[in-house]
Amino acid sequence: MRIGRVLISAEQIQARLAEMGAQITADYRGKDLLLVAVLKGAFMVMADLSRHIALPVDLDFMAVSSYGEATRTSGVVRILKDLDREISGRHVLIVEDIVDSGLTLQYLRRNLEVRRPASLEIATLLSKSGLQVVPVSVRYMGFEIPPDFVIGYGLDYLGQYRNLPYVAVMEEGEEPAEGTPSGA
Ligand code: 5GP
Repeated sequence: MRIGRVLISAEQIQARLAEMGAQITADYRGKDLLLVAVLKGAFMVMADLSRHIALPVDLDFMAVSSYGEATRTSGVVRILKDLDREISGRHVLIVEDIVDSGLTLQYLRRNLEVRRPASLEIATLLSKSGLQVVPVSVRYMGFEIPPDFVIGYGLDYLGQYRNLPYVAVMEEGEEPAEGTPSGA
C-alpha cells in the first residue's frame, strides 16, 4: 500500500478547524466545556481544534479499540483507557477524526450518556458519505469525503502515516523506490 491522492490539504484542514472552533466558541460561551478525544486517531484534531476555541476548556482522552480487520470496523468496541474524571453535569463535546459506519460513536455516545452529562455533542473532522450503518447526529462536521480508506492527520494504516499534515487516500501498490524510472 502507498500514499495516494491528497484529499484534503493541511491548509484546508486548518481553515475548516478555525471555522469549527469559532462556532464552538459561540455555542459554549459561559458553559463548562469538556473536550473528549478518542485516541489515537483524534489526537491531531484535538490539538488543533482546541487551539481555535477561545474558551477555558478542559481536555480528556479515551482510548478504544475496535475488533476487526485493519481497514474495517466491527462495531465491537473495547475501552482501553477511560476518562480521568466524572462528566456528570458537564457539557461534553466528543472530538473524533472520522465517522465511517458510525458504530464506534454510537457505542461511545451510549457509554457517556449514562454518566449524565449536561449535554453531549460530537465534532468530527471527516465523515464518509453514504456509509453510516447507524445514524449518528454530528453537531460539527469538517468535511464529507468519499468512502475510500484514508490516512494522515491522525489516521493510520497499520500504525503508520498518522503524522502526515494532510489527509490522503491509501492506494494499492508499493511506495515508488527513489530513482526508479517509471515503467522500469
Ligand atoms: P466507525 O465505527 O464509524 O465505522 O469507524 C470509526 C473508526 O474507524 C475511526 O475512529 C477510525 O479509527 C477508523 N476508520 C474509519 N474509517 C477510516 C479510514 O478511512 N482510515 C483510517 N485510517 N481509519 C478509519
